[in-house]
Amino acid sequence: MSEVLLDIVGVSRTFSAGDQNLIVLNNVSLKVHRGEMIAIIGTSGSGKSTLMNILGCLDKASSGHYFINGQDTSKMDENELAALRREYFGFIFQRYHLLGDLSAVANVEVPALYASEEKNTRRARAESLLSRLGLSDRLDHKPSQLSGGQQQRVSVARALINGGDVILADEPTGALDSSSGEEMMELLQELHKDGHTIILVTHDPQVAAFADRVIEIKDGEIKSDRVTNTETKKTVLANKKTAKIQSRFDYSSYLEALKMALIAMSSHRLRTFLTMLGIIIGIASVVSVVALGTGSQQAVLENMASMGTNTIEIKPGNGLGDRRSGRIRTLTASDANALKTLPFVDSVTPTVRANVAIRYANQALTAGVEGVGTEYFRVRGYTLAQGQYFDETSVEELAQVAVIDSNTATTLFPNESAIGQIIFLGKLPVKIIGVTEPRENAFGNSEALNVWIPYTTVSGRIFRQDDVNDITVRINESVSSTAAEQGIIRLIKMRHGVEDFFTVNTDTIRENIEKTSATMTLLISTIAFISLIVGGIGVMNIMLVSVTERTREIGIRMAVGARKGDILRQFLIEAVLVCICGGILGITLAYVIGLVFSSSNSDFQMVYSMNSIIAAFACSTLIGLLFGYLPAQNAAKLNPVEALSRD
Ligand code: ADP
Ligand code: MG
Repeated sequence: MSEVLLDIVGVSRTFSAGDQNLIVLNNVSLKVHRGEMIAIIGTSGSGKSTLMNILGCLDKASSGHYFINGQDTSKMDENELAALRREYFGFIFQRYHLLGDLSAVANVEVPALYASEEKNTRRARAESLLSRLGLSDRLDHKPSQLSGGQQQRVSVARALINGGDVILADEPTGALDSSSGEEMMELLQELHKDGHTIILVTHDPQVAAFADRVIEIKDGEIKSDRVTNTETKKTVLANKKTAKIQSRFDYSSYLEALKMALIAMSSHRLRTFLTMLGIIIGIASVVSVVALGTGSQQAVLENMASMGTNTIEIKPGNGLGDRRSGRIRTLTASDANALKTLPFVDSVTPTVRANVAIRYANQALTAGVEGVGTEYFRVRGYTLAQGQYFDETSVEELAQVAVIDSNTATTLFPNESAIGQIIFLGKLPVKIIGVTEPRENAFGNSEALNVWIPYTTVSGRIFRQDDVNDITVRINESVSSTAAEQGIIRLIKMRHGVEDFFTVNTDTIRENIEKTSATMTLLISTIAFISLIVGGIGVMNIMLVSVTERTREIGIRMAVGARKGDILRQFLIEAVLVCICGGILGITLAYVIGLVFSSSNSDFQMVYSMNSIIAAFACSTLIGLLFGYLPAQNAAKLNPVEALSRD
């Protein structure tokens, strides 16, 4: 007799069903020699599959010992058993158990993939095996495009890809018609002649007749064991393959896991998209909220900067919106002159607003007409384009002269120089002596029209009033604006006796805006972050459902030799990939929102910061890892036999 390959010694297998133990295998002992072809027969429920699963290391005996090549399997860990399934055994199942998403050739490759075989060699071998089994023109067909007999031949090729020293076939003909069944048995017989050890389970005596040795099993015990044919000439397989234990941290196995994840994602597109949706919305809202916040803040600050540097305005009343302020007439141009004496004051101007129509020739237009002091242009930071500003003499003499901005100049005098032209402010004719440079303004109010004349001209010739609407002070860069504000308040209060005015400090406003928008951004980002978490939980739920749905796939992968680590990695990579794709789509969506927003709103643009994009991206990856771990762990924990038996 040739050497003993598989040696089962006193093996029992019990299942606990409720409070009683079901003994399915009872003290079974069995020796399998190299190169045998054995049929295990028995009625349904007699324990054939249970025995087969123990032989193939898919299941463990409850008691007794099982030696493979003299090595005790009970002393092996999960990964060593997976290696045996992968390198040593080849499984053929009654219902083929092919992976539906993969082509025939890719199905055959799976065990080689888990053995870290190089891509080209494993593809070449898979193709040659399929060709040998007459499927050369079906390489790229999915299982659903193949007949039962063809599918079973694909699963034979899969059993052989890593060598398949021992082929375990559980009712291989059970789902086939009689002629395909016969072909299958001839194929197994051929493999037997080639030196493979074959163990098949069947309830059909005709099928069992192909074997050299028939073992009958009944109620979990071996009833008979007889050799029917000793004639067959056997070419004993040289033990050509030894289990390779490779480092699993190689780059290609990650690449393969990534590819598998992509296949799984693309063959369930709707499910993948719905999984991503939460992440997409979460990421898009984080990125666009931050962009919106930054954009609006920048716009406001730029606009404030364009109002002039560091100015403090003094207005009558006790705050913006004070309705009595119109009746307080104590703020005058002499207050402005007094302020000029303060050491920290750079320049001062009173402003008197006149609500009058502007006419030139037959044109009439509405513009802001302001009576201002000579220092107005310095306070506001204007520069002159043509002509000159009015001087102190013009102010003293209530001169009918005006400085206009470039918009007004181009509106009124599109084809000629504005300097020297006479325009009417209401009934008052004034001569234009200067035009200012256009100013960049973030609010883009380039359409605003401004006409400035000496404040004395407004109060002497248009309104006949002594008080001014407000006084604007530009303070030296070197002093603190709050200290300057206090100094100004003290001086005016001393002059008026009461505090019947208030100040508006652009610096304080700027600080407040910065603070407020930072708070708003934080607030909305928090909400967006919560939506990201909700999205992550969505991913976890769908992944959990997906694990349940794909239990059979996991069982098949384990049966052909996937380790728990392989399964864990596959699902984890899938979850991370879904989240990363969701992140990319989310960022794209945020940009689209930005485009739509900027085309419908000219006030400000959304400003995307690289930081928020990187943070969003990191977030989505992290969510994938975090929320993908539990489902992946669940998948890896599955028992192969149980997983296989599910639909
Ligand atoms: P067969 O000879 O038809 O392949 P099996 O080996 O599949 O029989 O099953 C033998 C007996 O063990 C059956 O009665 C079955 O109900 C029982 N059995 C198999 N697997 C389990 C399990 N996981 N839990 C409980 N009972 C089981
Ligand atoms: Mg069975």
